[in-house]
Amino acid sequence: MQETVICSVCETPVTGNYCSNCGQKPGRSVTKLWSMLVDWMANVFSLERSVFACILKLILDPAKIINNYWLGNRGYYPSPGKVFFYGLALAALHIAYINTELLGLTMEFTGVQTQLFFWAFFFPFLTLASLAAFIPKKQPLTKHLISLTYLASSFFIIVTLIQDFLILISKDYLEGWAFFVFLGLLVIWNARVMVDSRKFSQIILYSALQALIFIILVIICGGIVYLKNPESLKINTPPEDAVESVE
Ligand SMILES: [Zn+2]
Repeated sequence: MQETVICSVCETPVTGNYCSNCGQKPGRSVTKLWSMLVDWMANVFSLERSVFACILKLILDPAKIINNYWLGNRGYYPSPGKVFFYGLALAALHIAYINTELLGLTMEFTGVQTQLFFWAFFFPFLTLASLAAFIPKKQPLTKHLISLTYLASSFFIIVTLIQDFLILISKDYLEGWAFFVFLGLLVIWNARVMVDSRKFSQIILYSALQALIFIILVIICGGIVYLKNPESLKINTPPEDAVESVE
C-alpha cells in the first residue's frame, strides 16, 4: 500500500503511481546509481519500442489507433506526428548511408532536401485522392489526415527497411517496386479505416479508386512540372554505368 505523497511539480496529493494532474511519477526514494542506469536504458529503448509497437498495431488493426487519436485521446499511443518524425529520421539515415532515392524514386529539386520534398510533393496528392475516393463515406478531413500520416509514415518505414536490407544483401537489386508496394499498402489500409466494415470487395474497390485518383493527379502535376523544366524532376533514371553496360 503506497502512502499519499505531494507532487513536487504541481503540489497535488498523489495516491497512485502517477500524479493525476501533471502526470509526474513521484519519487519514493532518492536516485541510486542502479536505478539511474535502468531509467536511462528504459528511455533509450522504450522510445523505439513504443513507435515500432504502434506501427505493428496499425498494421493489425489500423482503425483502432486512428479512431482513438481522432476521438481526442492522447498520451497512450505515439501520435501521428511522432511516427512521421521517425519516418523523416529514417529517410535522412537512408539518404546518408544507402542512396539518395526514396522508395526507389529520385527526386531532385535544387535547394530542397529530398526527404522533405518527398512528403511535400506526395502528401497533398494522397490527401486529395483519399478525400475524393471516400466522398460517399462522409469522413471528416482530420480523419483523412490522421489516417494518412500514421499509415504513410508506417509503410514508408517498413518498405524502406526491407528495401535497404535487400540493397545491402543483393547486388542485382531490382529497383522500382518500392514506391508501388508502399502506395498499394497505403490505399488498402486507408480503405480499411475509411470503409469501416469488413466487406472485402468494398476495400478492394476503394483501394483501386484511391490509387487511380492519386496516379492521375501525380501524372497531371508531374507533367506540368516536367514541361516547364525537364531537368527539375527525374524519376527512376538508370545510373550511367548501367546504360553503358547495355550498349
Ligand atoms: Zn503533479
